[in-house]
Amino acid sequence: MSNEIFKLKELSAKLGNDLSLIQASGGNTSIKLDGKLWVKASGKKLKNALNEDIFVSLDLKKITKELSINNSKKELNFKNICGSSLRASIETSLHAIMPYKVVLHTHSVDTIAITLISNSHNYLNKLMKDINWKFIPYFKPGITLAKAISKEFQDNPNPANVLILANHGLVIGEESIEKAEALHKEIISRLKQKPRRQITPNIQKLNSIINKIPNSRLPAFKVIHSLATDRQSFKYVQNNSPFPDHLVFCGRKPLIINNDFSLKESTYGVIEGVGVVLFQDSNIATEEMLKAQAEVFLRIPANKNINFLSDKDCDEILNLESEKYRKKLFV
Ligand SMILES: [Zn+2]
Repeated sequence: MSNEIFKLKELSAKLGNDLSLIQASGGNTSIKLDGKLWVKASGKKLKNALNEDIFVSLDLKKITKELSINNSKKELNFKNICGSSLRASIETSLHAIMPYKVVLHTHSVDTIAITLISNSHNYLNKLMKDINWKFIPYFKPGITLAKAISKEFQDNPNPANVLILANHGLVIGEESIEKAEALHKEIISRLKQKPRRQITPNIQKLNSIINKIPNSRLPAFKVIHSLATDRQSFKYVQNNSPFPDHLVFCGRKPLIINNDFSLKESTYGVIEGVGVVLFQDSNIATEEMLKAQAEVFLRIPANKNINFLSDKDCDEILNLESEKYRKKLFV
């Protein structure tokens, strides 16, 4: 195995173990080597990079050509050339079009928090001084997002190596793994936001609620309760999902539990001022996404206009065959 691929695996595991950067099977990394694109496989977790095969290799020339002649919004199923039964990540096209050897893509909570706020562009401009960066408005992950980004690179002699993706995360491109890691670290430290203090949940009341709901339980991460106990976060949580992976693993909206509620198809329930309960359909991925959502909301100041995913955005993601595949792999 090439030394560079091993180094990429080491970095992937490091990034993947940080829940403020990567949740569940989200995020991905890649390297372009000798005409091949090595990219994380769909549904695999970056944190497992050193323990299992999470990468697939693809013929870079071939997929670049497929991308350039594809005029539809239909997702492309790139064929891997390593004989693996795994599918390349849905974000492979993004990695392929980035004109850099190493690409890191994380779902950083600080980045997501800033981009959720309407008109955050001026604020970002200040934070990103002297960085060659671009703000990319929200597009459905996959071919639609990649096409929007590729416009940025067309005939551009100085292509951005930092992309801030609204309602989604961060993309870093560099010529070596060391440089990519250093740049990612630098951007993350520039984008750091201070979270509000968490308010303690009412565990006693929550326990009496889960006793009445079959197969319900309390989340393992305490910060999730802030979705109910923090006044601002409670306002935000009643909207559509804030970012795509949250939507895939947590559903469109929570069930708001009050004195009189009927169980619907939600993965989690929120009781104002009390805390959060998880339902039967939730799993560890749900919890990691809810933790990220809670951390994101605690970083958004009061009374801001927030860009949640629209009903149309949600429909598009929930209908993606590739997302159903990814969710299935996780369970
Ligand atoms: Zn992503």
